[in-house]
Amino acid sequence: MELLNTLVAKGLSRELPTREEALAVLATSDDELLDVVAAAGRVRRRWFGRRVKLNYLVNLKSGLCPEDCSYCSQRLGSTTGILRYSWLKPDQAADAASAGVAGGAKRVCLVASGRGPTDGDVRRVSETVAAIRERHADVEVCACLGLLSDGQAERLREAGVDAYNHNLNTAEATYGDICTTHGFDDRVDTVRRARSAGLSSCSGLIAGMGERDEDLVDVVFRLRELDADSVPVNFLIPFEGTPLAKRWDLTPQRCLRILAMVRFVCPDVEVRIAGGREVHLRSMQPLALHLANSVFLGDYLTSEGQAGRADLEMIADAGFEVEGADDRTLPPHRADLVAVRRRGAGTEVAPNA
Ligand code: SF4
Repeated sequence: MELLNTLVAKGLSRELPTREEALAVLATSDDELLDVVAAAGRVRRRWFGRRVKLNYLVNLKSGLCPEDCSYCSQRLGSTTGILRYSWLKPDQAADAASAGVAGGAKRVCLVASGRGPTDGDVRRVSETVAAIRERHADVEVCACLGLLSDGQAERLREAGVDAYNHNLNTAEATYGDICTTHGFDDRVDTVRRARSAGLSSCSGLIAGMGERDEDLVDVVFRLRELDADSVPVNFLIPFEGTPLAKRWDLTPQRCLRILAMVRFVCPDVEVRIAGGREVHLRSMQPLALHLANSVFLGDYLTSEGQAGRADLEMIADAGFEVEGADDRTLPPHRADLVAVRRRGAGTEVAPNA
């Protein structure tokens, strides 16, 4: 297909596809699907080889959120049967992180429900990071604490946090349909705050919430514009007790097309298969490894993932290898940018250097 040749050429040179090309990927037929996977797989291998990075979630605080994100089992008024607790102690969180590291995780993602952290919460997370670093000096630590206010990103960086996750989730035009307690601009603002404080930015999306192809392309183009270093792609888990409980729009083929589109638009960033991997990709998960270079190991925030051992077997069976602690995740040009950003403003080099 001419479309795929064009997209591979652009992906190999980090050139932005057109919106029409991105939309055309989502519109391909099932007969064309393996060709799409093979094409996006070439782009994935160019920048990430056959490596798969493993990430491990530690849920520091669960439920009890005042926000109303309609996809979320921790939202205000959710009747989903999840654990609800307020802040793990640093040692408890470090124990959980150790389990992930022992399973091969290279990055630990510290997640707390809520609109955003108080300054006291930031102090608490800083103590948790210190407890984790005492045991695992080199593990990457990502924090995901909601909307950030002045100075908080800087304090997290000083505490040794490497990255900050805050997803855009869906297109600006439809954001009001999924959440009324904060807006798309609030989310963009936090991604920018984290990045300008020198944290590596992690921001992604949720597919399957009733969005159109145009909305998916919109949000992925915004992520490219924001220059996120990692892009988690979530597939909606329609939790009972939330407004989206009955939304089962996704098929494994659709998920693969979405991942391929993300890879073509964001060729050299860490594309991570996040929530919903098992329920939506099902037996197609190994094919998705040709598109994404990163997965979560084991369980997600409020749902169970497949056991870590099964993930490791799947990765090996599909001909991929788990990224080691000494391997660099991002391609050199991007890893250098992250390092420069962390050293401080004013030392950046041009994005295409
Ligand atoms: S702010 Fe976070 S925890 Fe709260 S409802 Fe939204 S996604 Fe869920």
